[in-house]
Amino acid sequence: HSAAQENKLDAPESGGAKEADAAGSNGSERGPPGHSMLAPFTSGTQQSDFHPLVIVRSEGVYVVDSEGKKYMDALAGLWSTALGGNEKRLVDAATRQLNLLPFYHSFWNRTTDPALKLAEELVDMFKPVKMAKVFFTNSGSEANDTQVKLVWYYNNHRGMPKKKKFIAREKAYHGSTLVTATLSGLPNLQKGFDLPEAFPYVLRAECPHYWRNHRPGESEEDYATRLADDLEKLILREDPETVAAFIAEPVMGAGGVMPPPATYFDKVQAVLKKYDILLIADEVVCAFGRLGAMFGCEKYNIKPDLVSLAKAITSAYAPLGAVLVSQKIWDEISAHSDKLGQFGHGFTYSGHPVSCAVALEAIRIYKEKKIDQYVAKVGPVWQEGMRAFEKSPIIAEIRGTGLIMAVEFGDKDPKKPFPGAWGTGAYFAAECAKQGLLVRVSGDIIMMSPILVVTEDELQEFIRMFGEALKITENHVK
Ligand code: PLP
Repeated sequence: HSAAQENKLDAPESGGAKEADAAGSNGSERGPPGHSMLAPFTSGTQQSDFHPLVIVRSEGVYVVDSEGKKYMDALAGLWSTALGGNEKRLVDAATRQLNLLPFYHSFWNRTTDPALKLAEELVDMFKPVKMAKVFFTNSGSEANDTQVKLVWYYNNHRGMPKKKKFIAREKAYHGSTLVTATLSGLPNLQKGFDLPEAFPYVLRAECPHYWRNHRPGESEEDYATRLADDLEKLILREDPETVAAFIAEPVMGAGGVMPPPATYFDKVQAVLKKYDILLIADEVVCAFGRLGAMFGCEKYNIKPDLVSLAKAITSAYAPLGAVLVSQKIWDEISAHSDKLGQFGHGFTYSGHPVSCAVALEAIRIYKEKKIDQYVAKVGPVWQEGMRAFEKSPIIAEIRGTGLIMAVEFGDKDPKKPFPGAWGTGAYFAAECAKQGLLVRVSGDIIMMSPILVVTEDELQEFIRMFGEALKITENHVK
């Protein structure tokens, strides 16, 4: 394989810059073989052959590698460092907590102040529906894994033990544990791991990508109606008594940044309600302002029964995930708690006091800065600036909202992607890296989600670097 092909195979979680560098130089930059880390979402060749790109320092919107090269980090870590690279208040919050109480657990009715305060804060700040409880995890994957157990627990409690199946969408990303990799609709996560057969409770709904999937003459609203009809047919075919929950990212992230078509969530929610099917909102990427609203659910009028959070909850300064449990679910579970006794689920680090202290400070900053309103103001500047590239002959589609975006290379006709062997995405990513912009590449899709406190000047610089790399790539492709 060429490195470009490797990169293609790596979709959707490949990073792009360094491997693409190697592609550009025919592999001549190969370093001493291998390191001892088994690296996540990294191809076999890269595991053993290439120097990884080692990031040693971060500052605002920038990261610096081990050779001293500075990059604007277009993905904010993994859509996560919302407050940028060196927010001292988060460091201070962690340090204070480390000095006071570096660890205590939350099992057996023992817990810590930061965990209690953060649970209260999250219940209070989530407005779309009344939340009652928060369960803490270390990651988004663990949050979604917990969702599956909670949904089963809830249905067993209310005497519906047959209601077990989940509906998830093609190209969804919900994590990489056994169960969440199965919920995810990305074959790369399942290949070689006996999935999806190992967890046979997942039904697949279409990825709501209007540009790619709509029929001639079909409006966004019509397309959403068709998707809701298809969802209803799927539920009826499977028997509604066996379908437990629908899980969805408000804007799909890792699958290629797909905002929902107009009216999609209204129509989907009507179907779910009709058949008593729960809605899990996976807000791991969208929450805390990324879309120009505090939560994706606010933006799209989603009324979930359960919500998953992670990433920006601590601005990624410490690992933390959370499950918000609605009053409706909690009332049912707590009414029957005597039957099952102890809630037999938890992690050593559930509610880790350092992570919770960092999250409390991050949320304080989001509120002080009115981060949702800030993104609603600067997001369109970036979105409109970038959309000027839509006329490029090698760009098929630009999509996004707020501070999240994907640019897809290819023909304007979605049925005519560029041949994978061209390696357009990898080539472009390498050019971006030369300019000083570190983008995420997955095949021919470039994904971007800058820090939420990015300045307008930085966004203009972002657009300029993107444009330079695009010009070079246009010449390369034609
Ligand atoms: N859900 C979504 C929407 C994600 O984008 C991710 C990670 O990118 C996850 C869940 C999994 O989170 P984690 O990597 O923290 O396990």
